[in-house]
Amino acid sequence: PLIPGHEVVGRIEAIAADVSGWSVGQRVGVGFLGGHCGRCEPCRRGDFVNCRDQPFTGMTRDGGYAEMMTARMTGLVAIPDGFDAIDAAPLLCAGITTFNALRRSQARAGELVAIHGIGGLGHLGVQYARRMGFRVAAISRGEDKRALATKLGAHHYIDSDRENAAAALQALGGAKAILATVSSPSAMSPLVDGLAPHGELLVAGAGQEPLSVSTLGLIFGERSVRGTMVGTSIETEDMLGFSLLQKISAMIETFPLEEGQRGFDRMMRNEARFRVVLTMD
Ligand SMILES: [Zn+2]
Ligand SMILES: [Zn+2]
Repeated sequence: PLIPGHEVVGRIEAIAADVSGWSVGQRVGVGFLGGHCGRCEPCRRGDFVNCRDQPFTGMTRDGGYAEMMTARMTGLVAIPDGFDAIDAAPLLCAGITTFNALRRSQARAGELVAIHGIGGLGHLGVQYARRMGFRVAAISRGEDKRALATKLGAHHYIDSDRENAAAALQALGGAKAILATVSSPSAMSPLVDGLAPHGELLVAGAGQEPLSVSTLGLIFGERSVRGTMVGTSIETEDMLGFSLLQKISAMIETFPLEEGQRGFDRMMRNEARFRVVLTMD
């Protein structure tokens, strides 16, 4: 048995003898990556996200659906004062995923960036993209999300049920980056044709079937498809600082820990708008 749950915020209750730089009582968070080892080859090259000996919180090591948990020092994220735990927690994976993907993309201020999918990740992606200074296009199916996407900061809304999203992006000049947050690879694939030269499709949503991309679409325009996974603990602190500065927050629903199953089921049925946060006293 394993305790599930990542995106955890709490206070340090105790620290091991060999830990320095953190203190009892300090408010900290843990995201998906449970802390790098510092010894493997990627770590020695400074690539902590791709550490080969890193626990995945709630997947390979006990997570946060609990009142207490243990964590590696290298996985800790300092939570700034002024950030409520329930607001900081849902950013520790979804926030860093979208923030870092955009911050590390080829897109520069004023260029067109598209966010594909307005859900748990996408509703944050739109906010980050807008506050980072991009021209933002939100892509979703149907008209339901139009008003929300606009409110979150999208300059353009593309209803992919009604129009060809790639053509719509090209009509806007072509996207320098498309952050794909949906869980359907077949919905992402055609968007490659909406990229500007040197544009990148950043894959943050996981799905079962493979992505199928036109090779000519990649060659002409030298476009690329790239996976993106969260970020380091210090980058997560950058993200929290930016979120506080720019007043970016996740839309959440809260459930007490005792009703965790109800919240979990709601999330799995895709009914939550948009992130479920478990609270405890
Ligand atoms: Zn390592
Ligand atoms: Zn996550």
